Amino acid sequence: MRTPAGRECSYYYEDFNRGAEIARCRIRRSSGSATWGPRQCRRCPVPQIEAASGSSRLDLTLAVRRRPLGLAERFEVEAWCTEHGPIADPYVGCLECVAEVRS
Ligand SMILES: [Zn+2]
Repeated sequence: MRTPAGRECSYYYEDFNRGAEIARCRIRRSSGSATWGPRQCRRCPVPQIEAASGSSRLDLTLAVRRRPLGLAERFEVEAWCTEHGPIADPYVGCLECVAEVRS
């Protein structure tokens, strides 16, 4: 679905039909992560990661860390392959999956 920031994101969900005003982010969040608000979508790296990695086994966990003194929030993404485990670089995706496709 298209986020308030205008990018495709599989974790974003909204429903404004029949007077409903539902907008939410369904990504798993680390404990202590700031709660979601539509503003976050502007700086969130998740749509880029999804577009870049192209892995269907990608499983992401997001932490949005508030910082003091009006500094911009920091976004930390942990990526897992549901088949092979931790992924070092979310933008590259799972190297073992890439190898499977190529073999
Ligand atoms: Zn994999």
